[in-house]
Amino acid sequence: MARIPANTAQELLAASFSGMVFGFLEDGCQEFEQSYSSSDGGQSSQENEAMFDMDDDQEDAGEDEKDKKFWENQNQILQATLCRTSSLETTIRSVTKEAVRESAGAGVCGCGKAASGCRSCLMREVCGRLCNAGYDSAICKSRWRSSPDIPSGEHTFLDVVDNSSSRKGQVRVIIELNFRAEFEMARASDKYNRLVQRLPEIFVSKVERLQNLIKILCSAAKKCMKEKKMHMGPWRKQKYMQAKWLGACKRTTSTPPFSMGQSDRLRLRPKSSMLTVDLLGEIMPNMHCAAVAVV
Ligand SMILES: [Zn+2]
Repeated sequence: MARIPANTAQELLAASFSGMVFGFLEDGCQEFEQSYSSSDGGQSSQENEAMFDMDDDQEDAGEDEKDKKFWENQNQILQATLCRTSSLETTIRSVTKEAVRESAGAGVCGCGKAASGCRSCLMREVCGRLCNAGYDSAICKSRWRSSPDIPSGEHTFLDVVDNSSSRKGQVRVIIELNFRAEFEMARASDKYNRLVQRLPEIFVSKVERLQNLIKILCSAAKKCMKEKKMHMGPWRKQKYMQAKWLGACKRTTSTPPFSMGQSDRLRLRPKSSMLTVDLLGEIMPNMHCAAVAVV
């Protein structure tokens, strides 16, 4: 038996250690490490076509440097925020991903509207799986009125309310199956697109973390549109995004009929119990305190 050379052993140790640590992380984290180090160069020239009014800005030499700093900073705080994930979030994420993967494989849609599954059927499926796994999961529908800042709208997503930790009290975890798509913009700059590409498509997050991400992404969208000298749609605003996931919503808990994955732990739930969660009152005071510095 050949002995493993010392440096290889060290590498193995380091690899397994990082595997241990990164095993808990959001999927985007490792990708981030790679893409961040490889795509760092050659960014400065890419926005030139967007800046058709360069002459006026030329005298302000510090402006370019400031822009560069802004995007670097957004990338860094986005990475840090994505990676700061708890074991509760990690477990819920893996149940969610498995349900999505299996639904895609099954290729059926309960409502019969779509050949390969629609968003609402997928959400019902994931919600049922999470309930089967013992979580208090529900389909949440938020709805908000128009205000001077934002138009009215509604959004449907999933959540889990966890009461298992006596230390932390009640913890709410938001599950969005199409998270990245919510922030994609058709005519965005490369810098903005790169930021959005770091987001996972299936996003599982506690309320506070989601709040921070929204802040980061919306200020990036604002900056992007300003750089491109374009008007930003009001549905891109931080307030609008917050209303989607963090405003008042109606939680619908239901146990869909399941042919598979039934566990003994499955408790019977009322067919559809409606309760209203209003988190806005708790969220509002924090909205303006920039917990994540946006420079
Ligand atoms: Zn369907």
